[in-house]
Amino acid sequence: GDLLGLDRLVANTAFFRAQQCDGTELRTQRVALMLPKPKRYSASQEVAKRTYESLCEQQPIGKKLFRQFLLTSNPPCVAAAEFLEELSDWSFAEEGTKEKAKQRILSKFCQRQSQTFLSYLTGENVSMCKALSDENFDEAALDQIREATRDFLRGKPFLGYLRSPFFYRFLQWKECEKQKITDKYFYEFRTLGRGGFGEVCLVQVKHTGYLYACKKLDKRRLKKKGGERLALLEKQILEKVNSLFIVNLAYAFESKTHLCLVMDLMSGGDLRFHIYELGERGIRMERVVYYTAQIVTGLLHLHSMDIVYRDMKPENVLLDGKGQCRLSDLGLAVELPNGKMICQRAGTTGYMAPELLKQEYYRTSVDWWALGCSIYEMVAARLPFKYFREKVQNTEVTRRTLEDACKFEDTRFNGPTKDIIMHLLKKKPVHRLGCRKGDDPRNHTFFKNINFHRLEAGLVEPPWVPKPNVVYANDVDDFRDNSEIKDVKLEPKDEKFFKEFSTGAVSVQWQKEIIDSGVFDEMNDPELNGHDHMAMWG
Ligand code: ADP
Ligand code: MG
Ligand code: MG
Repeated sequence: GDLLGLDRLVANTAFFRAQQCDGTELRTQRVALMLPKPKRYSASQEVAKRTYESLCEQQPIGKKLFRQFLLTSNPPCVAAAEFLEELSDWSFAEEGTKEKAKQRILSKFCQRQSQTFLSYLTGENVSMCKALSDENFDEAALDQIREATRDFLRGKPFLGYLRSPFFYRFLQWKECEKQKITDKYFYEFRTLGRGGFGEVCLVQVKHTGYLYACKKLDKRRLKKKGGERLALLEKQILEKVNSLFIVNLAYAFESKTHLCLVMDLMSGGDLRFHIYELGERGIRMERVVYYTAQIVTGLLHLHSMDIVYRDMKPENVLLDGKGQCRLSDLGLAVELPNGKMICQRAGTTGYMAPELLKQEYYRTSVDWWALGCSIYEMVAARLPFKYFREKVQNTEVTRRTLEDACKFEDTRFNGPTKDIIMHLLKKKPVHRLGCRKGDDPRNHTFFKNINFHRLEAGLVEPPWVPKPNVVYANDVDDFRDNSEIKDVKLEPKDEKFFKEFSTGAVSVQWQKEIIDSGVFDEMNDPELNGHDHMAMWG
């Protein structure tokens, strides 16, 4: 009724304000963060279980602090840090700036008289470095010098870092990262959508002002429907992935009544909505190519970990506020045991591959088939084997999928698009694009305008940006029947499972949040330089 409408308006307004806040406004709302003193044993613990790669490269805060350490250290360390940075800049540079980046590398690092000459290189690497020139800027040589640089850093500089105040600061952040997360950690705003076990709402972290989507799973509903094991599986897969093109998990915690998954906020709506609900049906080709490139990158990330997504369809691809997309809802995803094939039936009618429908064994091939269906749908606003809103039995869709050839009646299909769809919709997995030995879907001419190297770093501008004051979703029905769960009682063994689920912050995502929100820089104490805090915790 009217009241509900008003509630929604108020919630939406709060949401838009939160979204549009510039840094200054957010900062006044922030709840101050205090860095705790690391526990005595935590230093040795962190070092024992982590490698140089984890401490200085993979963990975002670790990487930043190690770099700060290097830049205040001796000249070879400074040179190494600057070299890695310039090399990365060069590799991501676009045509216009690439030449400049190359000249910088040559003059700063390859000439003996330069202050930042890579003096730590030994053996053939020295001559290789000096031989680099305008005409001879060899990628293989650069790779080898990069590896030699990492080997150098892994040695003495790394040991020096572990004894420095920078590492002490890292341990303080780790202590903070490990704190217990409750619903008090967030402000809660409007509902974004509804799932099988509860709603998904917009939340904001009090310390950082960062916005997320929080998927709430009603504990009693989970128990009633036996969904606990699946919820835990979804959470365990989500926390493993770390990709710009998959909705990543930032926190898992419990409240009195719910299990909560806090994930990247996707405020631009799902692709199904964009295909069917916004004026003319279908999505413009430039956008289709861009989204497909991001989806392919996300799928390859999952597959590289032997995870099959199994629910590839436009409805599960969500856009963020900038217009980039990510795969979401990993509730059907499965990790292949030791990379072996599986034969369990799972998926959505219309997107299921022939091998799935025939109950044969499969691996990642089913995702490539479903991608073919999804590209087809983005272009033509219907599925290859099912018209939009066609009333048809599942058995008939199965028959068509197994027997019929895919037709391209819509004039919006162009040559490369037809070709990639045809190769993704090969009935036999051994013939299918993405499944054949050694082939890479990214090399298909469909993607000729996509620079995947830049795309993977989030550097390719989206062809379309959602309008900031539009909600790209139909209103969700607020009504929910709670009578079915009113007599469900929670027991100690349920509590044990809830604890297993509630692991708190996910390391890499949490550290990214601290950096991206500006909190890391705010708390970065220039006094850090030069002091030796060893005595405080050694
Ligand atoms: P379920 O597995 O129960 O279907 P989903 O993960 O599909 O739950 O989420 C339900 C709905 O919530 C989605 O259809 C979408 O509208 C919304 N939603 C889910 N994740 C996000 C997110 N990260 N950002 C914004 N909205 C989301
Ligand atoms: Mg869903
Ligand atoms: Mg799901």
